[in-house]
Amino acid sequence: MKTFCCRDMGVDCDWSCRASTEQEVLRLAEGHARKEHQMPEFDEQMRNKIRDKIQDVQAA
Ligand SMILES: [Zn+2]
Repeated sequence: MKTFCCRDMGVDCDWSCRASTEQEVLRLAEGHARKEHQMPEFDEQMRNKIRDKIQDVQAA
C-alpha cells in the first residue's frame, strides 16, 4: 500500500489517502487538491513533489 498525507505538502489539512499504487494515490490527491484547495490540474512538477511524499505502508 501507498499513503500520502496532505500535511506533508505544508498544508494545514488532515486529509490523507491510501491506495495500492502510486498512480492511484496521485489520482486521489489530485481530486482532493482540486476540490478542497482550489488547485489547478496537477502538472508534472506537482506530481513529482507528491511522489517524493508518498510513503509505503504495510497493508492492514
Ligand atoms: Zn488537503
